[in-house]
Amino acid sequence: MGRVSGRSCIVTGAARGIGRAIGEALLDEGALVCFADINGDQARSVAAANSERAERNGGRATWADVDVTSRDAVRAMIEKTVAEFGRLDVKFNNAGVNKPMNFLDVTEDNWNFVMGVNGLGCLIGMQEAARQMIAQGGGGKIVNTASIASRQGFDNVAPYCASKWAVVSLTQSGARDLAKHDITVTGFAPGVVATEMWEQVDEDLMRIGASAKPGEAMEAFSADILRGRVATPADITGTTTFLASRDSDYMTGQIVMIDGGMTLV
Ligand code: NAD
Repeated sequence: MGRVSGRSCIVTGAARGIGRAIGEALLDEGALVCFADINGDQARSVAAANSERAERNGGRATWADVDVTSRDAVRAMIEKTVAEFGRLDVKFNNAGVNKPMNFLDVTEDNWNFVMGVNGLGCLIGMQEAARQMIAQGGGGKIVNTASIASRQGFDNVAPYCASKWAVVSLTQSGARDLAKHDITVTGFAPGVVATEMWEQVDEDLMRIGASAKPGEAMEAFSADILRGRVATPADITGTTTFLASRDSDYMTGQIVMIDGGMTLV
């Protein structure tokens, strides 16, 4: 019996990268998982590719096309999941974006884009998940994706850092407000994880003159990782399944660092 057997979970940003890995790890332990993403076609393919895995473990996989900054779309994603799985137990607010710019060049558009998805998207995701959990009688778990950029301000990615600090404060505010409904709110903070997001960030950092050749920025950024290497999504999922399971029931308002020892906070 898996740690999350029979639990109905939504993971946003699950068409690839960390979100996909979170969803697949939940399926490995018997959960019912909605893979949700703004790239709906890819989310559908990921759900289809995982249908056997889900069946093997007594769970199910579905998908949703969602822009996490749209409250209507978030509500529709939750309604679809509840229609298929009967309820919502765990909501991962994982969708995120980054668009590096030199500090002095950061524009309102850059700020609004990054804060919109990472900050407002997290708030809306928490609110709408909590409304569903309260409507079904209370109880549930909300898990937010923070970052090492939630703990330190890095140059060239100022809006991203601000948005990920926002994720920490939303986790704390939500934990305080939702405790009376038996809903816990936690988060986890990866360091450098080898995903397409980092490939894009690496390219962007070259474009703005912050690095000279492919891979250089990632290598420089990762030089001080105590565990001696960057993470893969699989390094993250032991913790995320724990945060979705009853084993973490007495935790709320906390962020778990999973960064291989980059930031000791
Ligand atoms: P990724 O770019 O590989 O995947 C992100 C997914 O989110 C994509 O599938 C994308 O389509 C989706 N998405 C983007 N905007 C969306 C929106 N408005 N609505 C719904 N879906 C949207 O990124 P990743 O590396 O897997 O990152 C996942 C999360 O982890 C993000 O919140 C990111 O900030 C965070 N994180 C990543 C790293 C890292 O090193 N990769 C480190 C710390 C934190």
